[in-house]
Amino acid sequence: MARFIFVTGGVVSSLGKGLSSASLAYLLQSRGYKVRLRKLDPYLNVDPGTMSPFQHGEVFVTDDGAETDLDLGHYERFSGVSAKRSDNITTGKIYSDVLKKERKGKYLGKTVQVIPHITDRIKEFIKNDSSKEDFVICEIGGIVGDIESLPFVEAIRQFANDIGKKNTLFIHLTLVPYLKSSDEIKTKPTQHSVKELRSIGIQPDIIICRSERPIPIEHRKKISLFCNVDIKNVIETVDVKTIYEAPISFFKEKLDIQVLNYFKLKSKKPVNLTPWKKITKVILHTKKEVNIAIIGKYVELKDAYKSLDEALTHGGIENNVKVNLVRIDSEKLKVSEIRIKLQNISGILIPGGFGKRGTDGKIEAIKYARNKKIPFLGICYGMQMAIIEFARNKLNLKKATSSEFDKKGLHIIGLINEWTKDGKKIKGTDKYLGGTMRLGSYDAKLKENSMIKKIYKKTIIKERHRHRYEVNIAFKEKFEKNGMDFSGLSPDGELPEIIELRNHPWFFGVQFHPEFKSRPLAPHPLFSSFIKATKNHK
Ligand code: GLN
Repeated sequence: MARFIFVTGGVVSSLGKGLSSASLAYLLQSRGYKVRLRKLDPYLNVDPGTMSPFQHGEVFVTDDGAETDLDLGHYERFSGVSAKRSDNITTGKIYSDVLKKERKGKYLGKTVQVIPHITDRIKEFIKNDSSKEDFVICEIGGIVGDIESLPFVEAIRQFANDIGKKNTLFIHLTLVPYLKSSDEIKTKPTQHSVKELRSIGIQPDIIICRSERPIPIEHRKKISLFCNVDIKNVIETVDVKTIYEAPISFFKEKLDIQVLNYFKLKSKKPVNLTPWKKITKVILHTKKEVNIAIIGKYVELKDAYKSLDEALTHGGIENNVKVNLVRIDSEKLKVSEIRIKLQNISGILIPGGFGKRGTDGKIEAIKYARNKKIPFLGICYGMQMAIIEFARNKLNLKKATSSEFDKKGLHIIGLINEWTKDGKKIKGTDKYLGGTMRLGSYDAKLKENSMIKKIYKKTIIKERHRHRYEVNIAFKEKFEKNGMDFSGLSPDGELPEIIELRNHPWFFGVQFHPEFKSRPLAPHPLFSSFIKATKNHK
């Protein structure tokens, strides 16, 4: 049976529970154990699919097509294990499952209550599909004391009781603030947070203290004493310069060893930190730099393109170059400013997106990249915009557009059932917005002798999708005659997956999201190739 590690947070949110969980997963894996990571989110949305990236950051998509919290991206990047639909749940999903069951009369006349019905469903989720793991690390979103997270905290308390405390470990992550005015480190918020946790019946076994500066021994002693935790289990996590230093820093603090000691387990092999050290060195000390413009709608919020930012960094690691991300708001990008704004840029990237706002700026930027021969990567919406730009400006199809934002026009991009209505293949779209997209991993077949095939070095690739609209295959010939190849298609040849320009040093559009599969220890070939091209650009 798997051992379960629950990670809760206290004092404030955004302390890095996801990163701490992911780093611990890497360390335990490196010591020879099999680990799975899970996230329980306290909000009422059934999944984050319908949430704005401004609100909640990126929506991370799994191979099996789940729209999940962005922490699952961290999990994948650090542990290398692909997440599944069954690794992320929300209060909304739990309630909707329970209510569906109630409507079917499955509770046999009982009064349906938070305890036991909601908590039972949560426990089911935690345990589900875990028998082959050595450890399941479960992160509870939000912070202890929030009304929303209460059923989750109650469920994990019960869970420990059900499977035995010796098989369950509670980690609590808190903030230990430093007060500049009095030059002091304060442990009181941690004490209060642990008190809150205890009031619900959970005594943490390990406390991870997030702090701006190292925590002196007397403060650790204080936390140990007041929070009733062995001093060896008071672990500090001081702000790191890059997230990829986190596994190194937790290793130094012996987090993994303390976890193994708790479960009375031995390390099966020594931890390998070499890759992280190498990565940190490139990120922090490489002199050569490239500037990449990300032109999108959600540039104000740092987490909105989390996986993308990381994938570009990975491309930099592979090419030994520091990648500077220049975020440009597509809504504010005026045609007259494009030249100035993009003058020190060696590569242009248009990420995924939705809706009309900002499309004009994107299309103008693509035109600039195409004409000035600046390396360009269009992802999902970015590819669709590149198609529209090419149609309008090169093929002289001035009315070319997408039915997503213009119901009239020439629909080079449209919902799939708009042009196969009477054919065999009709793609369902229903009246609900959630969960109606082409989601998850799909195959694409790469064209012989194409540049994309040289990058991937294979014919069939698997990439993750998240979109409703598709490029109309009927235009393929017209585009190809004029220099834009549809070099990757769905295996049935119906859906364009990749486009590339022949007379350009590096210009690609992809209908999928390669960023979800890039990992620091295995950078994605498309991003490595993109950064290489940008490095050669100037
Ligand atoms: N809005 C586009 C679609 O639904 C693109 C989505 C995306 O970029 N993820 O097809």
